[in-house]
Amino acid sequence: MNYDFSEKEQNFIKAVAECIQPFADKAGPQDSDRAAGEQDLGRVLPVLAETGYTGVGCGSTGIGTQTLVAAMEHVAAAAPSLFLGLEMSSRVFGRAVAAWAQTPDLYDTVLTRIQSGRGLGAVALSEESMNTENQALETHGRREDGQVEVNGTKSFVINGPLADWIAVAGQFEDQGALFIIPRDTPGLTLGERFVTSGYEGAAICMLTLENCRVPATHVMVPANPDDLLPTLRLWENQVMIGASLGALKAAFETARDSAKINRTGGKPAIAYQAVAFKLSEVLTLYQTAQLLAYRAAWTCDTLPKEAESLIWCAKVFCTEAAEKVAGYALQILSSEGFLSGNPAERAYRNAKLGQIYGTSTEIARVKIGDQALGYK
Ligand SMILES: Cc1cc2nc3c(=O)[nH]c(=O)nc-3n(C[C@H](O)[C@H](O)[C@H](O)COP(=O)(O)OP(=O)(O)OC[C@H]3O[C@@H](n4cnc5c(N)ncnc54)[C@H](O)[C@@H]3O)c2cc1C
Repeated sequence: MNYDFSEKEQNFIKAVAECIQPFADKAGPQDSDRAAGEQDLGRVLPVLAETGYTGVGCGSTGIGTQTLVAAMEHVAAAAPSLFLGLEMSSRVFGRAVAAWAQTPDLYDTVLTRIQSGRGLGAVALSEESMNTENQALETHGRREDGQVEVNGTKSFVINGPLADWIAVAGQFEDQGALFIIPRDTPGLTLGERFVTSGYEGAAICMLTLENCRVPATHVMVPANPDDLLPTLRLWENQVMIGASLGALKAAFETARDSAKINRTGGKPAIAYQAVAFKLSEVLTLYQTAQLLAYRAAWTCDTLPKEAESLIWCAKVFCTEAAEKVAGYALQILSSEGFLSGNPAERAYRNAKLGQIYGTSTEIARVKIGDQALGYK
C-alpha cells in the first residue's frame, strides 16, 4: 500500500483540520453544555460539507477511505462529541441511503441534505438485548393501506433527540431492512436524553415506534439482505477507529506539551527518564494505531473482501490503544490531568465507548479468530 497522500489529499485533510478548529474550544468542559453542543452540530456540518467531508463514502467525491481516516483524526481530536454526531449522520446514515435507497425520492430529499450538512441522520440497530450479534431484531414493518407500518423499540440512538430522520433496522417480509423514519412521524416517541460518562456533548436516547407509517419508498433493503447488519457494523467500526485516532492524537499532544513545560524538581518532567519512556510508549502506540487504521482503510477501497477482518483488528487495536495512551497521558500530566476538561482526561473517558460500540472488542476477537481459522 501507499502511505503517501497526494497534494489534493493533503489539501483536503488540511481544510478539514482548519474547519474544525473554531469548534475545538467548545469541546472542553463546555462539552457538557448540551445546548451549545447541539448548536455546534448544526453549524459545523455545513462548514465541513464545503470541504466535501460529509459526502465521503456517499458517492464519488474522489476522496479515498485512507484520506478520510486521516481527516477524521483531526475532527475527533478537536471535538469528539461533534465527531460522533456528524459521523453517525454522514458516514453511517448517509452511506446507508447512498447504498440502499431504491428510489430517487430518498436521494433527492434526504441524501442531498445530509451531504450538504443541512440535515441530520441517526441509525438505530440495538434493541433490548442491545447486541445484534446475539438476538434477531424484533422491530418489524408490514404493509398497511399502501404504506409500511413499523413497530419496535431501540435502546441507544446517537443523534436520536436531534435527527431529522432515523434509519431503523428491522425485519420486513422475512428479510433485514432499514426503515427511514422522519422525526415528525406519528407514533415515534423519543426517550429522555441519556447522561453518559464520555462523549457527553453527544445527544443519545432510546426510542419507540408504535404503528409508525412511512411510504414504501422509505424501506431500504440491500441487494443481499444478509449484508445489512455486517455492513452497518463495519461503518460503525470505521467511525470508532477514527474516534480512537483522535483520542490518541489529543492525549499524546497534551502529554508531550505538558512534559516539556511542566517543571518539577527544578527541571521539566520530560527530563526524568521514566517520563520520557512513557512518552515514547505513547508515541509508538499512536503511530502503530495510525498505520493499522490506514492499512484497513486502504484495504476497504482496494480489496474489500479482505477488509472486514482487518477492520476488526484495527478497531480492537486502536480502541484499546486509545484507553492505554490516555491513561499514560494522565500519568504524565499528573495532578493537572486529574482536573476535568483537559483533552487527555476527555480521551480517557471517551475511550471505553470505542470498545463497546459497533462490534465489541470481545466479539471482534472471536470473529478475527474464526476468520484466521478459515471458519468464515
Ligand atoms: C453511548 C452509546 C451510544 C450508542 N449508540 C448507538 C446507536 O446510535 N445505534 C445503535 O444501534 N446502537 C447504539 N449503541 C449500542 C451499542 O452498539 C451496544 O451497546 C453494543 O452493541 C453492545 O451491546 P450491550 O451493551 O447490550 O452489550 P451486551 O451484549 O450485554 O454485552 C455484555 C458483554 O458481553 C460481551 N459479549 C456479548 N455477546 C458476545 C458474543 N457473542 N461473543 C463474545 N462476547 C460477547 C460483550 O462484548 C460485553 O463485554 C450505543 C451504546 C452506547 C453505550
